[in-house]
Amino acid sequence: MAIVKSVDVVKMMIKSSYLYLNFKRRSEMKKFRCILCGYEWESEEENPVCPVCGASGDDVVVVEEDK
Ligand SMILES: [Zn+2]
Repeated sequence: MAIVKSVDVVKMMIKSSYLYLNFKRRSEMKKFRCILCGYEWESEEENPVCPVCGASGDDVVVVEEDK
C-alpha cells in the first residue's frame, strides 16, 4: 500500500508542477496593441508582429492591464 501511496504523491507533484508552469506561462503573456490598425492581442514574444497588418517594432506598444 505504501508504494501505491507514493505513486499517488508523485502524480500529484507532477500535476501541481504542471499547473504551476501553466500559470507561470500565462503570467508571461503580455498584451500588445498595434498603433497602426488598433488591433490588440496577447503574445509572449519580445518583439511581436501585428497579426493583422504586419507592423512591428515601434508600431507595436505594450498595453498595461489593470488587475
Ligand atoms: Zn496592425
